[in-house]
Amino acid sequence: MATVRDSAVTVVGGGALGAAAAYALAAAGYRDVQVLEAGDLAAATTGQAAGLVGQPRSTVAATRASMEAAAFYRAMESDLGRSSDWRTTGSLRIALSETTAAEYRAMADVAEEAGLEVEIVDAKRAQELCPGLEDVADVRLALWCPTDGYVQPNSVVDGYIAGAQRAGVTFVPHTRVLDLVVAGGRVTGLVTDRGPIATELVIDAAGPWAGALARTAGIDLPIVPVLVQYFVTAQTEGWTSASPCIRIPEVQVYARGEGSGVLVGGFESSGTSIDPRAVHVDATLARHEDWEVLGEFAEGMARVTPSVAGSGVRAVFTGWPGFTPDGRFLIGPVSALPGLAMAAGCNAHGVQGSLHLGRHLVESLSGDVSPEVAAMSPDRFVPRGWDWDDARRQAQSVCENYYPRVPSNA
Ligand SMILES: Cc1cc2nc3c(=O)[nH]c(=O)nc-3n(C[C@H](O)[C@H](O)[C@H](O)COP(=O)(O)OP(=O)(O)OC[C@H]3O[C@@H](n4cnc5c(N)ncnc54)[C@H](O)[C@@H]3O)c2cc1C
Repeated sequence: MATVRDSAVTVVGGGALGAAAAYALAAAGYRDVQVLEAGDLAAATTGQAAGLVGQPRSTVAATRASMEAAAFYRAMESDLGRSSDWRTTGSLRIALSETTAAEYRAMADVAEEAGLEVEIVDAKRAQELCPGLEDVADVRLALWCPTDGYVQPNSVVDGYIAGAQRAGVTFVPHTRVLDLVVAGGRVTGLVTDRGPIATELVIDAAGPWAGALARTAGIDLPIVPVLVQYFVTAQTEGWTSASPCIRIPEVQVYARGEGSGVLVGGFESSGTSIDPRAVHVDATLARHEDWEVLGEFAEGMARVTPSVAGSGVRAVFTGWPGFTPDGRFLIGPVSALPGLAMAAGCNAHGVQGSLHLGRHLVESLSGDVSPEVAAMSPDRFVPRGWDWDDARRQAQSVCENYYPRVPSNA
């Protein structure tokens, strides 16, 4: 095991955000960086993610950013020597209502302007592209993006680690940070369960524990762990690992093939969260399977794949990604406490978004900060006397509305 040492920059957390931050710092020329991880690398929230990478977005800038991320994950093996296990499956965004259909037509225009290949297809063509869609009677149209796909989140983290290690970054698993040390009004070090260390800058990438870590230095940030889950069925007719990724906003579900089954996830209408004040640096966030909610996802998916209901469940994946009350990432230095910067508040988008989150972090430390990155600053929440119940409700509602809620008859 690598030894814990003093370092100029210490990243806390070896998930998607911590690894991406370390990689981006190394690429930007930071030379004395170590990453401390309480458990195994990529084993917490990141290890549970479905890995969907979707490129069509509602603005040209966001579409281009997603295209760049997809290209990076595709090329990871040749660029960093580790494959992200990217699979080009294509994706179908399915509209069950006229409101969503209109939104997809607008997205198709945006995609064209951004240079992304997409096509509006009818229900019959959608079924040809994805034979697992057994019943397309309710489908108004679909937005087909042939270059979309998915990654294995752990493999993406492995890629960042390989890239960062080449530049001298050290990764130290099984080392928990218990406290931030503050002296003279700034962070000067950390207390770990393997001893204290000195550092000039802490990057708090502790995922759903990130708020708890900042709180050890008196900084209160509303990072609310919200339950996100999906299930994988046993063999389901028509589905393979090469099936397109599916998103259906009206029923708040997404799906993709997994082996000979189908992975079905979603966003429940009445979310489950943990009071951030109850999360401590050494707290275990218990695994939680909510079968009623998983049943709702199955019911939603049954609108297009009725046999999903009778396929049997092979596995359930679940975690507590950190959500913020305004749905924006928490990236950058905390002005009230020099020596502390955040890379957290993933809002369940931290695998796909990791490449840019790492870069945004570097930009936030550079002093030359774009409005886009400034909008992610933790300073928007500090100092503030939080109504924690309110913060929790708002963050939960960001998760509940991950896809815009549209009734099927709209
Ligand atoms: C079921 C599910 C499906 C998802 N699907 C997708 C998807 O398709 N696409 C997508 O982009 N995102 C998806 N997500 C969200 C994605 O998993 C997260 O956005 C991402 O993994 C967050 O990464 P992270 O590094 O912030 O957190 P984590 O992966 O939780 O990493 C934080 C790390 O910090 C460590 N840590 C915490 N406290 C300390 C401490 N005091 N000392 C040392 N180490 C510490 C933890 O052990 C942990 O490893 C999904 C999430 C779930 C649960």
